[in-house]
Amino acid sequence: MASRATQFTIIGGGVVGLSVALGLLQAGRRVTVLDGSDGDFRASQGNFGLVWLQGKGADFAAYAELTRDAVAAWPGFAAMLGELTGVDPALDPCGGYEFFTDPAEFADFSAALERQRAHLGNRFSHEIIDGDDLRRAHPRIGPDVVGATFCALDGHVNPLRLLRALRSAVVTLGGRIVTDAAVTDVATAGGGFALSLRDGRHLGADRIVLCAGLGSSPLAERLGFATRVRPQRGELLITEKLGSRLPFLSSTIRQVDEGGVQIGGTKADAGPDDRESLGQMAGLARHAVRVLPALADVRVVRAWGALRVMTPDGYPVYARSPRHSGACLVTCHSGITLAPLHAGILTAWIDDPSRAPGLEAFDEDRFALSEAA
Ligand SMILES: Cc1cc2nc3c(=O)[nH]c(=O)nc-3n(C[C@H](O)[C@H](O)[C@H](O)COP(=O)(O)OP(=O)(O)OC[C@H]3O[C@@H](n4cnc5c(N)ncnc54)[C@H](O)[C@@H]3O)c2cc1C
Repeated sequence: MASRATQFTIIGGGVVGLSVALGLLQAGRRVTVLDGSDGDFRASQGNFGLVWLQGKGADFAAYAELTRDAVAAWPGFAAMLGELTGVDPALDPCGGYEFFTDPAEFADFSAALERQRAHLGNRFSHEIIDGDDLRRAHPRIGPDVVGATFCALDGHVNPLRLLRALRSAVVTLGGRIVTDAAVTDVATAGGGFALSLRDGRHLGADRIVLCAGLGSSPLAERLGFATRVRPQRGELLITEKLGSRLPFLSSTIRQVDEGGVQIGGTKADAGPDDRESLGQMAGLARHAVRVLPALADVRVVRAWGALRVMTPDGYPVYARSPRHSGACLVTCHSGITLAPLHAGILTAWIDDPSRAPGLEAFDEDRFALSEAA
């Protein structure tokens, strides 16, 4: 159990908390991760597994840079995890497409990619491909697809294997992961923190990093953070395993390394409800068949809903509590893509923000500024 010997207590053992824990352990810190229970909403167990740059930060240069850095760091990160744990997160940086059946959406997204390129300069390149050219390269693409964008820097991983690798890496480096350890309250105590757990236990902590996904908000409030996260439901389908490989990766259709085709992901503000719905599933299947008509003959074997962890503006929050300098809040969407940075530069920032000035843009004071404007 967490004790004074632990320098950092991470609240939340999803992909974000474990990535932060890994980085701190690699920097020589003593770390305990307190994680909730199986009934919690866990985006890390229900996501689409993309390591995706295309479109990210078109209207927020710092996020475009952050995502570009993360994508660049992924091959080394995947190799490090594989060597440390023997678990390969199956990174496939094969490049990715966004397919469009609506000309207006195609035009809007193409313009967004130009804005993203303006931020990133020669660190970003993309292609805009009209439907006929696309079908010349990929004859199985359906006639309803009016065009696509392509970015050679996009890729994907096996997100469950990533989670397993992160857990194993944390334990291998001497970190402690305590499950069924939901923190229900936090207060300052003797220069550190006193944590109350749901099962009645009480723990001390020197420094804490709050990474509890959708469980963050009540504790964030107690610690003086302004950020409140909200759920956004995404629904996904997965098909039977195919004998052959799909010739492409896209943001909505990807073949996982084990052979099934994953089709996603809807967006709905449905509150704390992660149940899948027939209407959304039918819409996903229709979209997939329009893009790749051959999928009509493939059986769907599973469907699920999962809740994204969304900050008020959808961008990451890396914040230090205004009341207690020993408490940080780390929360984001795209925690798969950003994992190498959460185990890297963010660790330096947690120790000393002046060591990672590029992360200032992600402070939660931006919400106060936008409210005042
Ligand atoms: C449908 C969908 C598709 C997605 N696709 C992608 C994608 O393609 N690429 C990408 O980069 N990202 C994607 N994401 C986002 C990504 O999954 C998340 O950013 C990431 O998983 C968030 O991780 P987390 O650790 O913050 O949260 P979670 O995975 O939700 O973990 C939070 C953890 O905190 C624990 N916890 C909660 N409350 C407490 C408490 N009080 N005390 C202790 N522990 C607590 C929970 O038990 C849980 O283990 C997707 C998400 C969804 C839902």
